[in-house]
Amino acid sequence: MSWLPTIIKACYFLAALLFILGLKRMSSPRTARGGIVWAGYGMLLAVLATFFLPDMHNRGLIIAAVLIGVSAAWWTGRRVAMTAMPQMVALYNGMGGGAAAAIGAVELIGYARSSGLLHAVPDTSPLRPEAWAVNGLPPALSPTELALGVLGALIGAVSFSGSMIAFAKLQGWMDKRFVFPGQRAVNLLLLAAAVVVGVLLAIGHASPALIAAFFALALAFGLMMTLPIGGADMPVVISLYNAFTGLAVSFEGFVLGNEAMIIAGMVVGAAGTLLTQLMAKAMNRSIGNVLFGSFGAAGGEAQAIEGAQKPVDAADAAVMMAYAERVVIVPGYGLAVAQAQHKVWEFAQLLIKRGVKVKFAIHPVAGRMPGHMNVLLAEAGVPYDLIADMDDINPEFPATDVALVIGANDVVNPVAKTDPASPIYGMPILDVVNAKQVIVIKRGKGTGFAGIENALFYADNTRMLYGDGQAAVGELVNEVKAIDG
Ligand code: NDP
Repeated sequence: MSWLPTIIKACYFLAALLFILGLKRMSSPRTARGGIVWAGYGMLLAVLATFFLPDMHNRGLIIAAVLIGVSAAWWTGRRVAMTAMPQMVALYNGMGGGAAAAIGAVELIGYARSSGLLHAVPDTSPLRPEAWAVNGLPPALSPTELALGVLGALIGAVSFSGSMIAFAKLQGWMDKRFVFPGQRAVNLLLLAAAVVVGVLLAIGHASPALIAAFFALALAFGLMMTLPIGGADMPVVISLYNAFTGLAVSFEGFVLGNEAMIIAGMVVGAAGTLLTQLMAKAMNRSIGNVLFGSFGAAGGEAQAIEGAQKPVDAADAAVMMAYAERVVIVPGYGLAVAQAQHKVWEFAQLLIKRGVKVKFAIHPVAGRMPGHMNVLLAEAGVPYDLIADMDDINPEFPATDVALVIGANDVVNPVAKTDPASPIYGMPILDVVNAKQVIVIKRGKGTGFAGIENALFYADNTRMLYGDGQAAVGELVNEVKAIDG
């Protein structure tokens, strides 16, 4: 069947096309859902085509692994709460990095075998079927393949262990930050050692002991690199590991000569890198700082915040907004917890009917995942033209009569601009404090993700409407309806 390889290549090409077109569709909320489905079909096609590779071994084992993976992902994917999405992304992403590292390990062991560094045991690895056919031994990898295999394994292993720590932290299984003196030096030493051993492997010294040391160092580096990260920096790290996994898969795809892996990996790597840059910018962190700093950490004592929180009841808050000219609604993580998006849109529509100009302001890292608030507001049916980005809305706050903050905390905290000792110092924020009046809906005095006090809640122009997001907005809806008669 000489035409089979051509058909498989054509399937890989089509799969790659579906990945790219799917990603393109994900760039707009209107087409994003379809984009995910397209990319999913691409992945299905690539996986199916792989089964028909000539001399493919261990089909039974592969099918068993695919079934376990699909069932676990289906079950968790259907059950996961929107607010737990980041840890799920970290977990799945870690699996991708681990898989790439495992391919690298198999290739390195195969290389050790073929170069006589390991006893030649007949092997039926499915990874490079055509090559294993030669006398039961794997072929020598070309120097480029070997180098890329090692690099992919390094990046994949770091992404795997790092993502597992990110998952454990976001899931609340671990302390948010773990720091000790000299941590940065230890991290750099670990990385340097992993690179040195990796170079030895790449130039052909693939002994079992070196391979084991290499993976131990790479995994330890991923772990140590993620341990000190806390506070507001976690999303950047998850996105960075996402980019790492893409790169690792792409390098290993090159080693296996698998075009679908190369292209899918590159797409993930590029998209992850762009997202990392965007998020780092939104949080005012440099990527270098993300990689090697014990970041999210600030020196010195945070400045004390003066004043007291001033409560308001729903009736007064409703009057303030019903008679306002401009209202800007700022959703945050608490909106997601309370699932208040539908009530908020109902409330906004009541205001709009009264002639109030209403806009929604979204901070790039509001909530617990990129695009979290956009997804919720889209689900409630808020038109896209009412939703404004941080850079566009910030100049409008001084002319805003009431800014209504619902379950947002860190992303509206003015200490990010005023207190150099704050862990979120330098992070761009929504300048809600510049609005004429601010109403904040939250349940009590709970802190946000960064775990710090918020100066906005104590500002002269801020009133606190305590309560669950959905219940409080429900009261506002009733009060405005009462005003309307
Ligand atoms: P925050 O996490 O800073 O604050 C959320 C606030 O919501 C809390 O202060 C809490 O106060 C309140 N809240 C919780 N539940 C409810 C409820 N049921 N009803 C009303 N209020 C509620 O949210 P932000 O969106 O402002 O900031 C996001 C933070 O998460 C940033 O620090 C960001 O860096 C980080 N992050 C972002 C990710 C992303 O990709 N977007 C990923 C991971 C982290 P109270 O308990 O008093 O109600």
